[in-house]
Amino acid sequence: MKRKKWSDYLWLVELTYLCLGMFNILFAWLGMIFFTLPLAIAVFGGGKAYCNRYCGRGQLLDLLGEKLHLSRHRVPPAFLRSKWFRYGFLLFFMTMFGLMLRNTYLVFAGAPLKKVITLLWVFKLPWQWAQVDLVAPWAAQFAFGFFSVMLTSTMLGLVTMLLFRPRTWCVYCPMGTMTQGICQLRNGKEMSQHGGTCKTGSGTSETACK
Ligand code: SF4
Repeated sequence: MKRKKWSDYLWLVELTYLCLGMFNILFAWLGMIFFTLPLAIAVFGGGKAYCNRYCGRGQLLDLLGEKLHLSRHRVPPAFLRSKWFRYGFLLFFMTMFGLMLRNTYLVFAGAPLKKVITLLWVFKLPWQWAQVDLVAPWAAQFAFGFFSVMLTSTMLGLVTMLLFRPRTWCVYCPMGTMTQGICQLRNGKEMSQHGGTCKTGSGTSETACK
């Protein structure tokens, strides 16, 4: 039997993050690690190592879908894999992220703090009990916005895990698409410089360089 490594338990980090965010919204800031680390690894030549080894969300989806048999294991619809959908979803996601940053700036400039979690960019859940007195209102607003993004992407991941394959989210995950793009850019650059191939790491069928 294959011996487990510490990196096989990173799904616990993802689960802990979601629980901590429910307990205190300010923990949402920790999610910046999940946002910046995959990009940094890809930019500095690690390819898709984050997706292949260190992503707690991917592991959690695998665990729920494979080990707990919650996934129907159906082939995801072809449009989900298409370039236009993946890049279109990335554009949409980044636009929403930009709007979230704008709201943060507005609170920084004096607008009132909105204690609300927005699910699927539409449904607003009041989150009045959140204790945010420790930080500036703009920092709290960012936490509300960022946790909304994290919960929304988790929900999408869970729904597509249930309906299709466990890691269907990885097909159109914005972080996966961005690291994929970086990986391809680096490949192209190294190939044009050295006439060879660049090491990008292997991966699952959903996360390997497409
Ligand atoms: S594609 Fe997204 S969810 Fe999947 S392993 Fe990569 S970063 Fe994680």
